[in-house]
Amino acid sequence: MHMDEKLQARIEKIKMVLFDVDGVLTAGEIIFDDNGVESKVFNAQDGVGIKYLIRCGLKTGIITGRTSKAVEFRANELGITDVYQKALDKVLVFEKILKVHVIDPEEICYAGDDLADIPVLRRAGLAVAVENAGVEVKEVAHYITKRPGGKGAAREIAELILKAQNKWEGLMKKYLER
Ligand SMILES: [Mg+2]
Repeated sequence: MHMDEKLQARIEKIKMVLFDVDGVLTAGEIIFDDNGVESKVFNAQDGVGIKYLIRCGLKTGIITGRTSKAVEFRANELGITDVYQKALDKVLVFEKILKVHVIDPEEICYAGDDLADIPVLRRAGLAVAVENAGVEVKEVAHYITKRPGGKGAAREIAELILKAQNKWEGLMKKYLER
């Protein structure tokens, strides 16, 4: 497959990948137990994709409007360094991340699915809308995943970036040469 040159140029600059949670790292379902404690369903292949990003030297982060222990636990498990929950204004968090990491917007990929993600998507160097994202979200995206949130979208984003940055093959060697 021949990738669009403009998209390739955008991806080459990416040094950090930020994810929304509900609808992006999950399918959007939120489970409450009888005590009101929130649970979420994450995808193992998504998790491995995020670990690959980290292993290849990219920074990763989460910006979510909700708060749950499940997100904190999942982020710790994967090694995601920047976890921002209860982010009522995602742009403020985005700008904080720029300062903390001394990183340019062009070096950040953000993946979202809903309207609250649009302001950040419009600033990010690589704006990704997942397959299940709203029409307005897809309209501002540079890339729309084939797989839906919580079901391989994050893995697809990781592979897209690592392949375009020529990091995928080196990663695979470990598995293919034994
Ligand atoms: Mg969402």
